[in-house]
Amino acid sequence: MSSNERRRAGRHFLQIPGPSPTPDRILRAMDMPTIDHRGPAFQKLGLRVLEKLRALFKTKGHAFIYPSSGTGAWEAALANLFAPGDCILMYETGQFATLWKNMAGRLGLAPEFLSGDWRSGVDAGMIEKRLRQDSERKIKGVCVVHNETSTGVTSNIEAVRKAIDAAGHPALLLVDTVSGLGCADYRHDEWGVDVSVAGSQKGLMLPPGMGFNAVSEKALASSRQANRPKMFWSWEEMIPHNNNGYFPYTPATNLLYGLDVAIDMLNEEGLNNVFARHQRHGEATRCAVRAWGLDIVCRDEALHSPVLTGVLLPEGHDSDRFRQIVLDRFDMSLGIGLGRLAGKAFRIGHLGDINDLTLLGALSGVEMGLGLAGVPHKKGGVDSAMVYLSQTTTPDGRT
Ligand SMILES: *Cc1c(COP(=O)(O)O)cnc(C)c1O
Repeated sequence: MSSNERRRAGRHFLQIPGPSPTPDRILRAMDMPTIDHRGPAFQKLGLRVLEKLRALFKTKGHAFIYPSSGTGAWEAALANLFAPGDCILMYETGQFATLWKNMAGRLGLAPEFLSGDWRSGVDAGMIEKRLRQDSERKIKGVCVVHNETSTGVTSNIEAVRKAIDAAGHPALLLVDTVSGLGCADYRHDEWGVDVSVAGSQKGLMLPPGMGFNAVSEKALASSRQANRPKMFWSWEEMIPHNNNGYFPYTPATNLLYGLDVAIDMLNEEGLNNVFARHQRHGEATRCAVRAWGLDIVCRDEALHSPVLTGVLLPEGHDSDRFRQIVLDRFDMSLGIGLGRLAGKAFRIGHLGDINDLTLLGALSGVEMGLGLAGVPHKKGGVDSAMVYLSQTTTPDGRT
């Protein structure tokens, strides 16, 4: 804060769909001296967090931790498996799918992009059809985004695996769950995912700075055949070190202290309660948006994201101006419209360490902001959310 900026009392409302607010308990856990990453104390931490991370992904396979953002974990997945010229099939759910596709192109791969409308999920039928046409089995991988953070649509990953199997195709399944892990149900092994990609700053409530891969045995075997130079991202380089709780280079030690506690916190709440809480907050948010009479970006009732809600403003109303008003007046950050939704939509993040009253605070900021920005809407959104929240609980009878 510069000296001429006035201090704002209370907590900033960080209601973007990642980074999400970091709980004090995690901040305290990271407030430690950085230890020798080759020493015995580190070894225990390393073994513990790798074990907990595998459990969170619901895999008995491998989990890898990089000192990177989620984008690094995307690159790790592609770099370990594919060589220049390799064909991969990707699906356009929104901006994050588009960025991953662009990365694949920049790495010299040949991504084929099945186009989508940015308002619905992955069409598994389209994937099956395309794989059936690939009689020469040129497609090496299918890449999809689990929770598309630019739109607020969560795709059915199990259906994508079933489509690949129905086509009898050997392609690997790669899934971006950067904003899904720790918020929405995710089952790496059960859903037959080969590589899952995630990051620290969304459902895991940590600061940015760590990227994760969960990797099946099939993907690991495939990476050994892949004819592409790699070092920093190499799973093979990591494994012998990880087996002893160490890393081939300096890990983000203090973030790992945080990860240890973050996963404990998710487990103490109970993963199913965490998922139910996110679902419930998603529905409460949609109650508000419907009452305001605004359009939700996700068009498919079954695929609404529990992580965030994308909201379209009426034609002629600039979502960035609206967001600026909310920030200036109420000290709340809302997510920007990304890619083709720039200026047209904003996103309400309802992920991570938030409760009913945090959400209601956020929704009241949105409702007041709509009024101040002169966006045509009906009042009563927050009331609808309050009614929904008072009438429902998570399965264990709490919130
Ligand atoms: C945030 C996000 C990313 C990118 O992660 P960075 O940490 O910003 O590199 C990728 N995919 C999805 C779905 C995301 O939400």
